[in-house]
Amino acid sequence: MVKRTKLSAVFQARCPQCREGKLFISKAYNLRKFLLMKKVCDTCGARFEKEPRFYDGSMYISYAMSVGLFLMSALVINYTIENANENTYLIAIISEVILLYPLMYRYSRVLFLYSFGGLKYTPKQNN
Ligand SMILES: [Zn+2]
Repeated sequence: MVKRTKLSAVFQARCPQCREGKLFISKAYNLRKFLLMKKVCDTCGARFEKEPRFYDGSMYISYAMSVGLFLMSALVINYTIENANENTYLIAIISEVILLYPLMYRYSRVLFLYSFGGLKYTPKQNN
């Protein structure tokens, strides 16, 4: 059994209650299944979906991540590329959104579950 910190459990998208069970069915860049999330933890049985449409609130986290990404990429382009026009910004931001969409989708849900899921970390006792 691997002991995970809360940060590494969030990073690896693990269950907030046991930090072992995976939240998602497949890897982030499996484009057919990256949206699919487990309903219940395989390890401890914690419910990941508290109520219907529970994860609608994660859109706000995703929005904040997108705004942060836009600002960072705009700053990087502004300071690294001379003669950058509006097309440069548009192409960079659109390609970032397309490439990072699976990760932003997942981590917004993971952060939402850790923040509002009401699951407390209860490590399993070893015999
Ligand atoms: Zn669990």
